Amino acid sequence: MSTKITGKQQVEDLLNKYDNFLFDCDGVIWLDNALLPYVIETLQMLRSHGKQLIFVTNNSTKSRDDYVDKFAKFGLTILKKEVFGSAYASAIYAKNIIKLPTEKKIWIMGGKGLEVEFNEAGYQTLGGSSMPELDKELDLSDSNDPINKIDPAVGAVVVGLDTHMNYHRLAVTLQYLRNPEVVYIATNIDATYPANGIILPGAGSVVDSASSCSQRTPVSCGKPSKGMMDAIVEAHGIDKSRSIMVGDRLNTDMKFGSSNGLDTLLVLTGIETEEAMRALDQSSQPTYYAAKLGDLFELHH
Ligand code: PLP
Ligand code: CA
Repeated sequence: MSTKITGKQQVEDLLNKYDNFLFDCDGVIWLDNALLPYVIETLQMLRSHGKQLIFVTNNSTKSRDDYVDKFAKFGLTILKKEVFGSAYASAIYAKNIIKLPTEKKIWIMGGKGLEVEFNEAGYQTLGGSSMPELDKELDLSDSNDPINKIDPAVGAVVVGLDTHMNYHRLAVTLQYLRNPEVVYIATNIDATYPANGIILPGAGSVVDSASSCSQRTPVSCGKPSKGMMDAIVEAHGIDKSRSIMVGDRLNTDMKFGSSNGLDTLLVLTGIETEEAMRALDQSSQPTYYAAKLGDLFELHH
């Protein structure tokens, strides 16, 4: 049974029970390009109580630096080390979990943020924005076409949301995936995401194309995967029993928290409604729910 945050006492309980607050971004901190009410005040209140704040997003198109800039545009100062995006989590997975040597190259089907994070981790990347020739039609008779220049140094294929996805990029990606020694990583597998009031295809729809032709299943590094949590625990050494995941989506954020041993707080400013939450059986419901994140400040004030 989920507890609704309705008064000062419940906020006090949260402050007493948790040292680490993990936040989803879109739908919790902001909605599209609008900051949600009393978010600045709530984050300030948590910081003034000495809480560790960690921002966890499945958006693989942006690097951690991009996120620091995005927060700054809303007047929020955060540190790069407080951001965990699925692009960064994928790079951490390659480097620290499977320990892929940095002599290996990474084939990218995804956005610029992925390249930035893998480069920062010490890997050379191919594909992605570095190969505009992939935007042209596939030409098997052209010896300079990337499909005829498969690089044996590639050790992993990483797939995320690719707004330039096309048949040519998919065809070259398949050549790498056909080698079983090449590791297959997905940033996240969200089928869709909301933007400007409509629903757009998410990274999962790009990943599914690569999985379909290669008949392979990737390791997914975004929420709700254990890999994302392992990366956060490794970076911050957090005690999971004193940590809470705040999010707007049941099948990513709340599952990410609950399946990895964290309590959860659902806010109703994004994807989910109170009815959707109540439709779950009691054991799957979030630990707490609130109309909005800013209620923590408003009710405590
Ligand atoms: N993927 C993309 C490309 C997005 O733009 C977004 C939201 O902006 C998401 C995923 C979901 O992000 P979050 O996990 O912050 O809700
Ligand atoms: Ca969200």
